[in-house]
Amino acid sequence: MQWISHLKNLRTIKIEGEIENVSPLRIGSGKAQVLESIADLTVFKIYDPQKRVHTPVIPGSSLKGVLRSQVVANLRTYGIQNICDGLPRATCLEGNEFTRYEGDSGEKYHNILSGYIKVCLACLIFGSPGFSSHLIVNDGYSLNESKLATRTMVAIDRKSGSAKQKSLYTVEYIEPGAKFAFDLIAFNLPNYTIGLISDVLLKIHKGIVSLGSLKTKGFGQMKFNKVEIYVNGKPETQIASLDPFDTLVTIEDSSVEKKLLSFVNAWEKAKEKISEVANRGWNWMLP
Ligand SMILES: [Zn+2]
Repeated sequence: MQWISHLKNLRTIKIEGEIENVSPLRIGSGKAQVLESIADLTVFKIYDPQKRVHTPVIPGSSLKGVLRSQVVANLRTYGIQNICDGLPRATCLEGNEFTRYEGDSGEKYHNILSGYIKVCLACLIFGSPGFSSHLIVNDGYSLNESKLATRTMVAIDRKSGSAKQKSLYTVEYIEPGAKFAFDLIAFNLPNYTIGLISDVLLKIHKGIVSLGSLKTKGFGQMKFNKVEIYVNGKPETQIASLDPFDTLVTIEDSSVEKKLLSFVNAWEKAKEKISEVANRGWNWMLP
């Protein structure tokens, strides 16, 4: 169970590839960042100093948020209720639990393992106040010339349900066919936790889970054109188990679906035992 602590570098798994939007995509920046923008609500962009333009990116924080909320929802449908939402004031930790163990990470780790300080599986993967994440999702940079467009929307009065007067606004979005890099780094994560993440990636790939806003209008449907798995920087076909609940994963050089499913299988095999750990209040000590 050493992976739970951040004391030792056991392994780093990198999942990288290419993701493309098959329907309009809108991940907002909140307000217009660029002066020449004609839209009220622009898409999130970063400045490319070489091309001297602002290009859209998929913010890693946005994708990580989708992964976390979907993993939490999935765990609950599997019957694991003892899990937190990860929203402010709805996390396992407040951030001050470990202050007295400062300088003694061994004691901190032991208290998490024994469930004395409860940290649910979602917090172990994605982090919690005072506990570092085991997962990094990098920003997805644009790989081709993405086309931007705007659409005029009508603000609806939430109380009456009618369109407000003079309440038209324009939103900017990315036309289908934009390709972005996809880059996720799992530090010391067992295969079954990568299975939980892969399950969400599969749902994104199949259009069951969308990214960004305006989902009810069909926005944010994505597909993965390519997914590659690297262990400690090298392409690997056999990925060892990392704890007593984990299983070996064999990656074949095949489709995106099959690569992701091989990790989902590790979760399928682990879920009953993880459910028992959850029922014991996230006590990982074997009875
Ligand atoms: Zn939690």
